[in-house]
Amino acid sequence: MADLAAETAVHNHGFDAERVKQDFPILNQQVNGHPLVYLDNAATTQKPQAVIDAISHYYQHDNSNVHRGAHSLADRATAKFEQARQRVAQFLNAPASRQILWTRGTTEGINLVASSWGGSNLNAGDRVLVSAMEHHSNIVPWQMVAEKTGATVEAIPVDDTGTLDLQAFSDMLDERVRMVSVNQVSNALGSINPIADIIRLAHEHGALVLIDGAQAIAHWPVDVQAMDCDFYVFSGHKLFGPTGIGVLYGREELLNAMPPYQGGGEMIETVSFDGTTYNQLPYKFEAGTPDIAGAIGLAAAIDYVDSLDRAAAAAHEHALLAYATEKAHEVPGLKLIGTATEKCAVLSFVLEGVHPSDLGMLLDQQGVAVRTGHHCAQPLMQQYGIPGTVRASFSFYNTFEDVDRLFAALDKARQLLT
Ligand code: PLP
Repeated sequence: MADLAAETAVHNHGFDAERVKQDFPILNQQVNGHPLVYLDNAATTQKPQAVIDAISHYYQHDNSNVHRGAHSLADRATAKFEQARQRVAQFLNAPASRQILWTRGTTEGINLVASSWGGSNLNAGDRVLVSAMEHHSNIVPWQMVAEKTGATVEAIPVDDTGTLDLQAFSDMLDERVRMVSVNQVSNALGSINPIADIIRLAHEHGALVLIDGAQAIAHWPVDVQAMDCDFYVFSGHKLFGPTGIGVLYGREELLNAMPPYQGGGEMIETVSFDGTTYNQLPYKFEAGTPDIAGAIGLAAAIDYVDSLDRAAAAAHEHALLAYATEKAHEVPGLKLIGTATEKCAVLSFVLEGVHPSDLGMLLDQQGVAVRTGHHCAQPLMQQYGIPGTVRASFSFYNTFEDVDRLFAALDKARQLLT
């Protein structure tokens, strides 16, 4: 391990990433003849054995449909499913578990708010602000509702370091801004957005705020009451839980006033051809059979995360990023994309004269998994004038040795490609 790594290891409160890694069976394998180095955590995180066991236990012992059954399995499945909702509420410090709605993920959470709240509240001339570094899932749903309502969607500028321009944001605010929807951490750059300021300024102008927590939720504790956001969304699979399950938290009075997003079973109180009445929160927004195993798996993931020393895990991730950034500066022709002062877990870069996907392929051949491309942030790539980047994204189970392996593989690839 290089000097810097040794130094930072001392400062990371002794977080034992090597031990934590052993909780994730998938990480213990060879890929293309090399031990796997998984650095695609911003796309999806791996699952600890505890999550795999919780899902498998549910299907082996408790599987049943929820809420409607008159038998023991249905009671057990319902109890576990609702306990999972309470676990999420506690994890986010939401005032009540009825404010936790199950979704398929971040994308569906944003679509739900855009369609339900936006469809019933936005009018011609109203403005929705998103940042220039949003994931497509926090742009397109707003554009879709804007098309229907005559509202506009505008981008808060981001400078060349990948820092949101807070002054420009403040200048954009007026009484026509109804919604500000921004990510807490950019998936393409790793920039941490100043959401406390964003929320305060937006509220001062009477706008609501949705925070896309997809890239933050795995990295530090979230308290939606302290944050004072109106909506918060995240995906279970980015928090060491299963795919297909996500969470939308909303302020109760807003959720109560919003029309249902989808119609079907579970979301109704009574149905007749003369008219239908809707169920209470949270069920009003949960038409059809939910992802029961997903919710249970997500609760197990939260239990797992909470069993770790989160401050030490965050310090370890920070040290990994600092170490990787230092090493990146030494690589000839490498340009970092995203150099904001406040960054989290993401190293995005381009290599002069090399297409990101060629580089990604050569890294994969050496067992190093990264993501290449536009990272569903095409407007941002257009701003930088590049087709995409190579993105290494870290989790607490990554080690300094993983970073060394990335740069050794990069060196080899560079010699072949340049
Ligand atoms: N928002 C951000 C910041 C993301 O990073 C992602 C996924 O990468 C999403 C939204 C979409 O998440 P999902 O595909 O799980 O719905």
